Amino acid sequence: MIDLKNCRLRFAPSPTGFLHIGGARTALFNWLIARQNNGKFILRIEDTDKERLVEGSVEQIMNSLKWLGMDWDEGPECGGDYGPYFQSKRLELYKKHVVALIKNGSAYYCFCSAERLDQMREEQKKQGFSTQYDQRCRELTESEINEKLNSGIPYVIRMKVPVEGSINFDDLIRGSVTIPYNNVDDQVLLKSDGYPTYHLANVVDDHYMKITLVLRGEEWLMSTPKHILLYDFFGWKPPVYAHLPLLLNSDRSKLSKRQGDVSVSDYMRKGFLPEAVTNFIALLGWNPGDDREIFSKESLMSLFSIDRCGKSGSVFDIVKLKWMNGVYIRNLKKNDIDGLAELLKTALVEKNIIEQNYPQDKMLLFAELIGDVIETIPDIYPYAEDLFRKKVIFKDDESMEISQTREYQILKESLINGLQTVDYLNKDNLNALIKKIQSETGVKGKELYKTLRVIISGETEGRDLALLFLFLNKNGILERIT
Ligand code: GLU
Repeated sequence: MIDLKNCRLRFAPSPTGFLHIGGARTALFNWLIARQNNGKFILRIEDTDKERLVEGSVEQIMNSLKWLGMDWDEGPECGGDYGPYFQSKRLELYKKHVVALIKNGSAYYCFCSAERLDQMREEQKKQGFSTQYDQRCRELTESEINEKLNSGIPYVIRMKVPVEGSINFDDLIRGSVTIPYNNVDDQVLLKSDGYPTYHLANVVDDHYMKITLVLRGEEWLMSTPKHILLYDFFGWKPPVYAHLPLLLNSDRSKLSKRQGDVSVSDYMRKGFLPEAVTNFIALLGWNPGDDREIFSKESLMSLFSIDRCGKSGSVFDIVKLKWMNGVYIRNLKKNDIDGLAELLKTALVEKNIIEQNYPQDKMLLFAELIGDVIETIPDIYPYAEDLFRKKVIFKDDESMEISQTREYQILKESLINGLQTVDYLNKDNLNALIKKIQSETGVKGKELYKTLRVIISGETEGRDLALLFLFLNKNGILERIT
């Protein structure tokens, strides 16, 4: 195992949209390792692909990270000693380095036009080969190069991958990885617009930002030979690499938008708790070695370790995420009922079910009433519809039948009379009221409670009856039943 003390790790998103669940997982694992080892967690924005940039996504990504409880030691907003942390602000550095590679013979000018490259790829596909640059410009003489440069032909700069042999590296998750050079393309390093490609910028930055461990998704595994070669070309020592397994849909295809929500902000918007989402993504590719599933941030901090990250793809199971969110809501109800009430209030105000100045004691009762039965915050709406209704609707045949009985009539009368004698129901006078109704009507036990429940809610069973009384309270009950 490598020494991670004082490690420097980074999360390097491209601002092409929302933060994907897979990206959040990469960020979380990097963050955990940095925090566990007194290291640094760096946020670097890889914004050199101008065509794919999406306005506002840097803010989106940062908000999602913050929502999940991650902070960074260097990066946008906080700066740091190795900035700027936006690649678009480091273009000169990349250019300088690509010139150095041309000089030492490990990169070359390529003047092939887009049309020629398309044709070449078509041809390769037809013949059943994987598409790769055919290295036509690799052998241009100096005078040919100068001639083309002088006549202003657009060019890119490519790296010179060895023709024979293979590259081998140790991946902390996948073990020893060997990739033959003939599977590695002569990658473009500098594009014709003067912008670096991901590969060049990523390596230059990881070097200058002194990154010690690169932990990223498996989709980058095949790029790693290019990166290690670049380190070699520059005469630098590469970081250690680790590639996390792919995230999969339930049919084991690669996780995609088509099969459901894949961005953190979708879950934020849909009322999931950040602690539950964090817990859930921690288990995508990592396991604690036993069947425990609920982990607070603190326990993740003490238990997480890269050698318990697996290499096989992990399925994104939305049913499990919902279940987990339910666990966290119940925990919130137990440990921070005010916090739960606040969340529920926001959701109710949003749908205009209540107003901002809705009484706090009633909000707490509402949270008590439904905190155990929901998995996500929007699950409250059907309950809210029942609880805020101004009349009673009988829910089934049994409640209908009960509403026709003599007991129902006398209990209802007694309840109305009893309520007139109090200003507001609290635990004590509620008990007294029920006792009074019991002695007045002679109805007792199960029959008493069931019938009272039907009277005030139209249901024969459901949540805690006393809570229901207190929540609806004098005016709410009278409004519904008279
Ligand atoms: N910019 C790349 C991305 O969007 C970073 C990949 C890496 O971590 O090297 O995921």
